[in-house]
Amino acid sequence: MNSYKLLTPGPLTTTSSVKEEMLVDRCTWDDSYKSITQKIRSQLLALAGTAPEQYTAVLMQGSGTFAVEAVMTSAVSGTDKVLIVTNGAYGERIVEMARYIGLPYAEYRVGYDQYPDEAELEAILEEDRLITHLAIVHCETTTGILNPLEKIAAIAKAYKKTLIVDAMSSFGGIEIDVAGLGIDYLISSANKCIQGVPGFGFVIAKLDKLAACRGVARSLSLDLYDQWKGMDKDGKWRFTSPTHVVAAFSKALDELEAEGGIPARYERYRHNNELLRDGLGKLGIHPYISGEKQSPIITTFLYPDETFRFDEFYGYVKERGYVIYPGKLTDVDTFRIGNIGEIYEEDIERLCSIIEQYRGGTGR
Ligand SMILES: *Cc1c(COP(=O)(O)O)cnc(C)c1O
Repeated sequence: MNSYKLLTPGPLTTTSSVKEEMLVDRCTWDDSYKSITQKIRSQLLALAGTAPEQYTAVLMQGSGTFAVEAVMTSAVSGTDKVLIVTNGAYGERIVEMARYIGLPYAEYRVGYDQYPDEAELEAILEEDRLITHLAIVHCETTTGILNPLEKIAAIAKAYKKTLIVDAMSSFGGIEIDVAGLGIDYLISSANKCIQGVPGFGFVIAKLDKLAACRGVARSLSLDLYDQWKGMDKDGKWRFTSPTHVVAAFSKALDELEAEGGIPARYERYRHNNELLRDGLGKLGIHPYISGEKQSPIITTFLYPDETFRFDEFYGYVKERGYVIYPGKLTDVDTFRIGNIGEIYEEDIERLCSIIEQYRGGTGR
C-alpha cells in the first residue's frame, strides 16, 4: 500500500497497529470512548513528569498550531505582555498569532543558527517590566536547532514569568521535566514524537495558571479554559472530537510505553540522527546547525554544490522509498531530513546508500 516512508517531522510514518485503530467508528458520548480521552490525559501527565494535583492535560482539535494559538489567546490577557523568543519560522508564527489576537508583545529575535543569549534575555526582562509571559520553541523544526530550554526556564523562573513552550516536535522524543523546569504551558501534537496521526494538539498546563484564564480567550473554539472545564468532567470534548485520531493516539502512547518510554525513544532518534549526519557527511553533505546545537529530530542540510537540484534529488529518493523535506531558509539553499516516527537504523542506512548512488551515478 504505502510506497514510501516519511522522513518528515510530522505527519510521520506510524505503525500499522496505530493505523488499524482507525478502522472502528466510535461514539463521542459513549463511556468507553470518553475513558480513552481520560486515559490519554493521565498518560500525558505522566510522560511530562507532572502530578495531577499540579498540572492538567487538555486536548484541542486541529493541528499543532491550533493548540499554540489556544494557549496564546487563552493565557495572555490584554493587560499582560508576552516576550516571544524567535530563531525560526515557528517562533515567528507565535509572533503572527500575537498580532492577530492583538496581544501586547515583544519579540527577541536571534539568527536561525543561534541560541538566544542569556544575558540579552535577562537585560530585556530587566528593562521591560510590563512583560508577564515568555514564549519559546523548544526544537525549532525550521532548522532542527534544539534551544537551551533549561537555561531559558531558569531565567523565566528567576523573573517570575509565565513560561509557554512550543515543544511540538520534541515532546515524547526528548525528556522534558515540565514540573521541575516550572513550565506553565507546554504544547505538542498527536502526529510528532508520540507517533500518532494528525488531528489534534494538546497542552500540559499548570492548574493554578489555567484556572485564572476564565473569560480571557478571544476565540470560542480555541478557548483552552472552556475546553479544559468541559473535558475535565468526564472526558467529553466540547465539540466533535477526532475519534479515529484519538483512538490511534491512545495506541501510540501505549506503544511508546512498550518501547521503553521517552528514554528509549530518545536513544533511537539520537542514533538515527547520528547515523544520518555521519552518513551524509561522508558524501559531502553537511548540516546547517552545528553539532552541539543539533536536535535528534530533524536536520537541515546545505546543498552540496551549485549544481544540486532538490526536485530531482527528491524524486530519486522518493522512487526508492523515502520522502524528504524541502528547506525553510530564505538565505541559504537547504533541504531537511527528519528521523522520527517508525524509522530505524536500517532505514537511515538504506537512505544513505540511495543518496550515495544518486551522488555517484550523476556526479552531483
Ligand atoms: C509541527 C510544529 C508546529 C505545528 O504545526 P502544524 O502544522 O500546525 O501541526 C508548531 N511548532 C513546531 C515547532 C512544530 O514542529
